[in-house]
Amino acid sequence: MRGSIVILILSLFLTHLNAQELELKEEYLEPITKTELRKHIEILASDSLEGRFTASEGQIKAAHYIKNQFSSLQLHPYNDTTFYQSFNMWQWHWGKCAISYGDTILVNNEDMVYQSYSPIEPAIEAKCVFIGNGTDSIVAQLNLEGKVAFAYINNLSRYYSINRLIRNKGAKALIIANPNNDEQFNRLIQQVNSDNSQQKIFKDRPSFSAYSSKTFAVKASFAELLFETSEDDLLYINDPKTLKKLPTPSISLSCPIIIEPIETQNIVGYIKAKEPTEETIVVSAHYDHIGKKGKNIYNGADDNASGTSALITLAKAFQNIPEKLDRNILFLATTGEELGLLGALHFAEQQKQLPFEVKANFNIDMIGRNDSIDKENYLYLIGASHYPLLDSICRVANQSDSLTLHKEYKRGYGSFINLSDHYAFHKQGIPILGFFSGLHTDYHQTSDTIDKIEFEAMQKRVELIFRTIFLACQTEILK
Ligand SMILES: [Zn+2]
Repeated sequence: MRGSIVILILSLFLTHLNAQELELKEEYLEPITKTELRKHIEILASDSLEGRFTASEGQIKAAHYIKNQFSSLQLHPYNDTTFYQSFNMWQWHWGKCAISYGDTILVNNEDMVYQSYSPIEPAIEAKCVFIGNGTDSIVAQLNLEGKVAFAYINNLSRYYSINRLIRNKGAKALIIANPNNDEQFNRLIQQVNSDNSQQKIFKDRPSFSAYSSKTFAVKASFAELLFETSEDDLLYINDPKTLKKLPTPSISLSCPIIIEPIETQNIVGYIKAKEPTEETIVVSAHYDHIGKKGKNIYNGADDNASGTSALITLAKAFQNIPEKLDRNILFLATTGEELGLLGALHFAEQQKQLPFEVKANFNIDMIGRNDSIDKENYLYLIGASHYPLLDSICRVANQSDSLTLHKEYKRGYGSFINLSDHYAFHKQGIPILGFFSGLHTDYHQTSDTIDKIEFEAMQKRVELIFRTIFLACQTEILK
C-alpha cells in the first residue's frame, strides 16, 4: 500500500516534470545493443576463462578484461590510481597426508581418505589396535591409551559413535574400513577428488583444532597387512580375548594443513557527476563463477557474465552523459560472490574510507534468461518490498516499456535479499534493488552457456536498469 502511494506521488511528480527537465532521452539508450551485450558475454563465458573461479587464472583474465573496458571507457579508477580493489582471502589445503607402515605408504585421496579437519603435525607414531566392529563392550575391554584404533564398519560415513568411544579410551586416531563393500571406498575417493578440484577459500583466516577427532578410511585389505590375518578371519574376530592376541604394529599418521593468503580483486571505476559531490550510486555485478571440475567448465553465461556485460554496457551508456548526472555512478564488478559475497562485503566495509556517500546500490545478477513463469518481458526486483522508493523509481522508469515487474523472488532458496551482492549494502542500511530474471535448470550447471541467453529480453532489462539508475541520479527524484 505504502509503495503504491509512493509510486502515485512519484508518477504525478514525474508527469509534471517535462521531458526537457528530466532529459531522459531515447538516444541515451543507443549504446545498449544486443551486439554489445553479446560481445562481453562471449569473452567472459568463454572456455578460456574456465568458469572464473575466484583467484583462478581464468578469473584473473576476466578481471583484466573488465579493467581494460573500464579504462577504455575512461572511467575514473575508484581511488584515482587503479581499478583493482585488491584484498586477501585465505585458502587452505592439506599438505602431504599419509599413513605409513614399514615400507607401505598410503597417500591421501588415492589409497586412503582423511575424513577429518584436524591437522596432524607432527606425525602420530603409535601402535595400531584392531577393535573388530568397535561396539561398546569390545572397546571397553581394550587398552587404547595413546594408540590408533582400527575398526571394520558397515558404512564409511557412520563412524561418529566409534570415534567417541575410542577417544574416551585415550586413542589418538581411528582407521576404518568396510570389509563388505570396497565400492563404497572407491565412491568416497571419487567424491573427495571432485570436491577437491576447487580450492577452499574464506574471507577470514580459518582455524582448525588439532584436538578434534581424526578418522581415516582405507580399504579392508590394509587390515590384512597390518594384523597378519586374512580379511575373512578379521571379519569374524569380535571378542576382546582374540583381538588382544593380534599384532599391534607401529604406524605413522600425518596430515599437515597449509593455510595461506590469496589475493583477489574487485574492479571499480566511476563516472563523476556534473558537479563535485560525494553522493554516489553503486551499480554492481559479480564477475566470478564456480570454475571447473575436472574437465567440465562452468561457463556461467547467465550467472553472471550477463550482469557483468550489463555493467560494462551501462558504463558505456552513462559515460556519454556525465553532464546529466547529479550523482557519481560507481561501477563495481565484484569477486568472490559465489564463495559468500566476499568482494561486495569487502567493498561495503571499505567504502566509508572512500570519498563516496552511497545513496543506493543496484545489483545485477542473472538477467539473461526467461523463466517458465513469465516467459518474457519481466524482471524480478529483489529488495523492492524493503525499499519502496527504489521500487517506485524503477516502476516509473518502466512506464513506457511495460516489463512486468515482480517484487521479490520467492522460489527455491528463500529470500533472495541475502543471496547476492546487494546484501552487503542492505546490511549497512543502504537502499538496494537487485535485478534478476529467475532461476532455471542450468543454474550452476555446465549448461549455463551463451547459446541460451535471450538477448532481446536482456536488452530490454538493461534499458530499464539504465532508466532506473538515471532517475536515481537526479536529486529531485531520489533525495
Ligand atoms: Zn550469481
